[in-house]
Amino acid sequence: MLSYQHAYHAGNFADVHKHLTLYAVVDHLLRKDSSVTYIDTHAGRGRYSLAATETSRLAEYRNGVARLWEARTSLQSNPLLSDWLAAVQAAQQEPSSGRLDHYPGSPWWLAQRLRKQDDLQLFELHPGEHSHLSQQELPARARHRHADGLSGLLTALPVKSPRLCVLVDPSYERKSEYSEVAATLLKAMRKTRHAVVLVWYPLLPAGHHATLLEALKEGGQRKIWRSELSLTAPAQERGMYGSGMLVINPPWGLEQRLAAAMDRLTPLWGDAGQYLADWWVSE
Ligand code: SAM
Repeated sequence: MLSYQHAYHAGNFADVHKHLTLYAVVDHLLRKDSSVTYIDTHAGRGRYSLAATETSRLAEYRNGVARLWEARTSLQSNPLLSDWLAAVQAAQQEPSSGRLDHYPGSPWWLAQRLRKQDDLQLFELHPGEHSHLSQQELPARARHRHADGLSGLLTALPVKSPRLCVLVDPSYERKSEYSEVAATLLKAMRKTRHAVVLVWYPLLPAGHHATLLEALKEGGQRKIWRSELSLTAPAQERGMYGSGMLVINPPWGLEQRLAAAMDRLTPLWGDAGQYLADWWVSE
């Protein structure tokens, strides 16, 4: 049964970390003209009103995107953060108002940057979330399906375009999802070896993400970059204390660009913020 709804968490520190990484990857892909297919296996609603009952209940965005929004003038000197914040601004109801009232989800981040030669496939399994997603204004080249994103990914391969970028962002409601994601990606990478794949995972005191990371390493993936933003030490926290991203086959130069942006961001969380980036697997 699916009970997770991303609206309760929209715009939190993990979303910032995930979408900044996604934004930077897309930037690199757009440097070449050849077409890209984007597949978002766990799409969510697409765009979130911060005033919605679910989002305002926990108001996690206050410790996430709102921190960057308040510091946006001082973050302008970093080009990636400056561009990313301009995109957040464009997602607001009235972009020129200076008010932060919406937060864009992954379908929005991808749809905004589609060129005429690119396409986007979105999968969302929760009927309510899919219904919200289907009401979003998305370009015609963005197709959404009410379907399982992991099997949907395997069915979609190989794609017609020369390049493929996949975002895998599950809710991990079941512990078995960590190994299911790894098994799916190992199958997918056998069909399309050069795909750029981003995988999000939570850092929890139980450390379930190790299952995912180890399985990808044992499965023979040769280039995996890891980026983790954590906010408190595990011993002091019961719930999610950090956000992790793996990028399989990262575009050249991505690490340096993101590291510079994350070095500017992490101090926004004071002593609690810590950032780690390294090669989980390198050739
Ligand atoms: N990617 C979104 C973003 O960045 O804005 C957030 C996605 S949220 C963490 C995970 C979503 O996956 C939820 O909306 C959930 O309903 C959906 N979901 C869960 N299992 C799924 C599956 N097997 N296939 C597709 N969607 C699934």
